[in-house]
Amino acid sequence: MRKEFYYAPLLLMSFLSVDTVAQDLSAMVDKQVTTLEDKVIAWRRDFHEHPELSNREFKTAEKVAKHLRSLGIDVQTGVAHTGVVGLLKGNKPGPVVALRADMDALPVTERVDLPFASKVTTEYNGEEVGVMHACGHDTHVAILMGTAEVLASMKKELQGTVKFIFQPAEEGAPAGEEGGAELMLKEGVFDNPKVDVVYGLHINSSTAVGHIGYRPEGEMASVDGLTITIKGAQTHGAYPWNGVDPIVTAAQIVLGLQTIVSRNLEIIKAPAVVTIGKIEGGVRSNIIPEEVTMIGTIRALDTGMQEKIHQRIREVATNIGESAGATVEVAISKHYPVTYNDPALTAASLPILEKTAGKEQVHLIPPRTGAEDFSFFAREVPGFFFFLGGMPPEMDPAEVPPHHTPDFYIDDSGLALGVRTLANLTLHYMDTHTHATGK
Ligand SMILES: [Zn+2]
Ligand SMILES: [Zn+2]
Repeated sequence: MRKEFYYAPLLLMSFLSVDTVAQDLSAMVDKQVTTLEDKVIAWRRDFHEHPELSNREFKTAEKVAKHLRSLGIDVQTGVAHTGVVGLLKGNKPGPVVALRADMDALPVTERVDLPFASKVTTEYNGEEVGVMHACGHDTHVAILMGTAEVLASMKKELQGTVKFIFQPAEEGAPAGEEGGAELMLKEGVFDNPKVDVVYGLHINSSTAVGHIGYRPEGEMASVDGLTITIKGAQTHGAYPWNGVDPIVTAAQIVLGLQTIVSRNLEIIKAPAVVTIGKIEGGVRSNIIPEEVTMIGTIRALDTGMQEKIHQRIREVATNIGESAGATVEVAISKHYPVTYNDPALTAASLPILEKTAGKEQVHLIPPRTGAEDFSFFAREVPGFFFFLGGMPPEMDPAEVPPHHTPDFYIDDSGLALGVRTLANLTLHYMDTHTHATGK
């Protein structure tokens, strides 16, 4: 007791000074962003006009690397094909904070009437396609370039190191190639120096400018591919009793799979989806074929539930097959993990979001059954991923063209908030973790 009493005034003083420092830095961020905003928007429009597909982000990477170098940041290029990694060492010791932006565009032909609309075309899977930043990754690159400029200007005050990760191929590498977050990790992006925490954001076309959405724990779904092969015995369509019909068996399996989410999962915990998207088998009306294959996708927001779905798919499919006299093979390939927001990090980030965007502008959102390859990063260290508003305020979210479509549109007046938020999250993490760990 005495000891605590003795140290109390000292502790109080140090907390006060920490808070004052944090406030000063956040005021510096605000000032910097105000002068930077036009530049961030100009970068974004340039990237928008010159989009590049996954693993082909050559010019984008060049521009990013040039900008980081101009800020005195150590730059590594060619990570996971076209990735750029910048390392900013603050003058004071502290943790290593990773900030991630994805750089790739999509094979979509832009239909939006903008002075900086994309007219780029390229060959994709042997076809001539338009290329468009139809998921808004152009805004992510510009926001992170702006954040790098803000934090580089505060190098003297910075208590730790920032790793800026400009990632290729979030939307998936071309057939036969590796890519994205997973490949960056394989190439050691989280080592030398070891990353302690990772933040990322996604612009959202149906969230109004100035608003932020977030969710602790499972925020976006895991994605697994599913292939089921059913082998029966071929026979004449008029004499089915002479064979084993894989088409009827496939139909029973499709229905059986529907009971996994509805009957086997504790759905009050988190949602899940099992979808069969394609069934193939047979050549004509009067031949019962030997084999049917079907493919599908599995989405989950909880890793335990994801495993349970896999187990039940195997049981349901093989047992239905067995009851029909068919043999069934189930192959499940894991594509993306659950995008998981560390609960403690989310709780610590929330006051920063609220201070930066305004309390009324920050919303707890429902989980999404789409996926994000930020999930690979957030599986390695505590991660926090949030959504940033990109919708013109006067628009109705229900009428907004979705991501990945030719009419997808982002109002770039919301980008400054992205820069402020990433910079403040970084500074706050450094502040709280430097003092807590004495690093
Ligand atoms: Zn996308
Ligand atoms: Zn995206």
